[in-house]
Amino acid sequence: MDFVKLINCMRCGMCLPHCPTYKETFLETASPRGRVALVRKFQEGELVESEKFLEYVSLCLDCQACASACPCGVNAGELVAEFRCERKQEQGLSTMEDLILRKLVPHPDRLEAATAPLRLYQRTGLQKVVRSLGLLKVFPAALERMEGLLPKLPEAPLRQTINEVTPAVGEQKGTVGFFLGCVMSLIFSEASLATVELLSSLGYKVVTPKDQKCCGAPNMLGHDIDGLKEAARFNTDLFQSQQLDFVVTDCGGCGAELKKYGHHLDGEAAATAFSTKVRDISEILATEAGTLKEKLKPLPLKVTYHDPCHIAHCQGIRSQPRALINLIPGIDFRELPEADACCGSAGTYNIEKPEMSDRVLSRKVQNVQKTGADYLVTSNPGCLLQLKKALSEANPPVKVIHLTELLQMSLNA
Ligand code: SF4
Ligand code: SF4
Repeated sequence: MDFVKLINCMRCGMCLPHCPTYKETFLETASPRGRVALVRKFQEGELVESEKFLEYVSLCLDCQACASACPCGVNAGELVAEFRCERKQEQGLSTMEDLILRKLVPHPDRLEAATAPLRLYQRTGLQKVVRSLGLLKVFPAALERMEGLLPKLPEAPLRQTINEVTPAVGEQKGTVGFFLGCVMSLIFSEASLATVELLSSLGYKVVTPKDQKCCGAPNMLGHDIDGLKEAARFNTDLFQSQQLDFVVTDCGGCGAELKKYGHHLDGEAAATAFSTKVRDISEILATEAGTLKEKLKPLPLKVTYHDPCHIAHCQGIRSQPRALINLIPGIDFRELPEADACCGSAGTYNIEKPEMSDRVLSRKVQNVQKTGADYLVTSNPGCLLQLKKALSEANPPVKVIHLTELLQMSLNA
């Protein structure tokens, strides 16, 4: 770990009001400033690795709201993640981590096969029976929680059904690669199909290589740097072998990771060139605002927008999604209070730290209700999963959709 990054913290406290865990606890140890101090003391040998110490460190959501607020460029979330990665490299992966991160996640075929029983579980009606009888209560709480988050799955993952090349409609203005993302393809395939159709309707030929692998974000979450590098190298070679103007993703988490491939591979030229081509879908669509506006039809809806951490804090994208929503005639856009505060999903945080995740989520739900919106728009699968469940149970319920689904609704209205 670069020690300079730790000593850059001048303890001003400007990050504190932006940190979701500090806002819930008002504990210095649950703040960005406190976490930087803890890691620094550990590095200096003044702290030992106690259970309490690891608990403080693991309560960080890695949402990086602190980085957006810090005047000194300190990124406490990233420092904590880096610290945890270094510890993991010393300890090695557990058998379960090796199974999931190395043998399952990097292989789309295996991942799709592993989720096939879930489709059956839903389609046969077994899920309804299990839920109505409360049978999941006999299983570990984490399993019940994961099952509760599961929305209705599409008939097949998008990777299996999409054509490798989607031609441009009308005159072709460019060629883009589409990065599918595991969760988007497996669960939110309709949103990703809308993404590809939007790009095609705006004159882009869309190439979706079916061999692509996971972006490596789960490896990062599991503190598996070697797995992350493998994913980065594979996807770089695959996409760089095509003649592409941009590589587009509609998953905030994937976008943030793909844009760091150059960094992950220590500045390798091919990975750096790949990263500079990566665009979130909102970045591409915002450059087509004029053309898009002519095609959009009125939607009389009250809409608000939640900034995913991986889009706002990690990629600095805030204005584009809002501008795109406001292109739709008839939309009543309502700004969400604390719109860029984490929803508590944060990878597997909502499973591993359910109590804090629920507190953070509850604040988000209250803020959404203050807007009076019928629809909440966002663009990261973790946020979609977390907010779809919570807001479907709110009173009144609020529908949660991906940005490209809203735009497609307007195109087809
Ligand atoms: S992390 Fe940044 S904002 Fe927070 S106390 Fe340190 S210098 Fe200030
Ligand atoms: S990453 Fe998020 S939770 Fe972690 S210290 Fe920064 S603001 Fe707080």
